[in-house]
Amino acid sequence: MRTILILGGGIGGIVTANQLSHRLKGKEKIILIEENRAHSFAPSYLWMMTGDRSKAQVSVPLKSILRQDVELINDTVEQVFPAGQKVKAGGVEYRYDFLVISLGAVLAPEKIEGWDQSVHTFYTCEGAEKLHKALNEFQGSKIAVVVASVPFKCPGAPYEGAMLIKDFFRKKGSLEKVEIGLFTPEPQPLPVAGPELGGAVKSILDKKGIRYYPSMQLDRVDTKEKKLIFNKKEFFDYDLLVIIPPHHSPEAIRKTDLASANGWIDVDAASLQTRFENVFAIGDITSVPLPGRWIPDKPMMLPKAGVFSHLQAEVVAKNIVSTITGTDQIEKFCADGYCMLEAGEDLAGFAYGDFFGTPHPRVHLRRIGKKWHTGKVLFEKWWLSPFGLKKSIYKNVLQSGGRLLGIPIRL
Ligand SMILES: Cc1cc2nc3c(=O)[nH]c(=O)nc-3n(C[C@H](O)[C@H](O)[C@H](O)COP(=O)(O)OP(=O)(O)OC[C@H]3O[C@@H](n4cnc5c(N)ncnc54)[C@H](O)[C@@H]3O)c2cc1C
Repeated sequence: MRTILILGGGIGGIVTANQLSHRLKGKEKIILIEENRAHSFAPSYLWMMTGDRSKAQVSVPLKSILRQDVELINDTVEQVFPAGQKVKAGGVEYRYDFLVISLGAVLAPEKIEGWDQSVHTFYTCEGAEKLHKALNEFQGSKIAVVVASVPFKCPGAPYEGAMLIKDFFRKKGSLEKVEIGLFTPEPQPLPVAGPELGGAVKSILDKKGIRYYPSMQLDRVDTKEKKLIFNKKEFFDYDLLVIIPPHHSPEAIRKTDLASANGWIDVDAASLQTRFENVFAIGDITSVPLPGRWIPDKPMMLPKAGVFSHLQAEVVAKNIVSTITGTDQIEKFCADGYCMLEAGEDLAGFAYGDFFGTPHPRVHLRRIGKKWHTGKVLFEKWWLSPFGLKKSIYKNVLQSGGRLLGIPIRL
């Protein structure tokens, strides 16, 4: 029996483990190492922030959404030795024949000069819970949503966050009192998705009265004076600050030969193979350059998003099975991604297309509507359900809906 070791039980790790289990039918050993016992669905943090979900509604025991023959080890990965084909976690060494690394990105708010606990975020489960309380008690007027630096996961989430905060105050009946500003170092919304999509998102923000401040690099925060300092010269006041914190790669990877100069793992864009044989990396921990696209002097990277972790996991699982079974069916990752962009009032936009397209990705935003919001809710239900009838029903509904709308939904 060969051992396939998967590091990280988030979106990429779960899909890899379940796909391998489904295809290998118990013939090989599949081990998944994850430090948390519970798995929470990050896209739902936005609904926790608005009070539409509780922590219990967006979290499940990780074991409940893994297929039965996946061995789950609840421990922290301390070190990876790709040359020696072993990994150390919780003081124990694990040998592997195939390794899939899906350890995600670490949030580092403490890297922001002046940051303290008064700064909010909806990028973590606890943060979203705390922010909901703060929004409920909010008496001021100025809310700043700030992207501290790039890269960050889910390029649409800050925009969704700003629109949902606006909607929260609309429902509360205090919309006129609140002013929302969205500050980002990006030159336009979702630059990875091209100018057409950026323009469409910008006009939605305008219609909602959300002030958009592009090309704003945050230097520091003064939480005593409640001031933000950007681009070494621009000052803004706030009453409530919501930050998308800086991201970096996990410590266990930064100290290995796998990490590139920027800390992330370089992989072959089609196979997700690292420079070590039978060692793959997927999802947020990777850096995958977009062909022919630059900002301005370095390559633009594929966004860190669950949809890509999911698709990459499928490619890697299929290729590991092909290697084991000796078939030469090689799958290649193509960056056809989608995103349901929550806009408030139970409406969402839907962006879909090829992120590897040149000179710009061919990503289009479909008209905002209730169906995309419903799709996102159904996806959440499907993702968090244990295997069984309920999961199959959600899957069928989502896939049939996708077919009707001409979108291939692979679950
Ligand atoms: C608010 C919000 C909204 C989002 N909305 C969307 C959306 O609508 N669509 C979309 O496509 N994406 C969305 N995303 C992004 C998406 O959640 C991530 O891109 C996705 O989870 C990445 O998958 P991953 O497997 O690479 O990493 P993760 O899902 O982050 O999994 C990494 C796992 O590794 C574990 N881990 C880390 N270090 C260690 C260690 N040393 N030892 C053991 N375990 C470790 C972590 O606990 C974690 O469980 C959103 C993210 C946020 C925060």
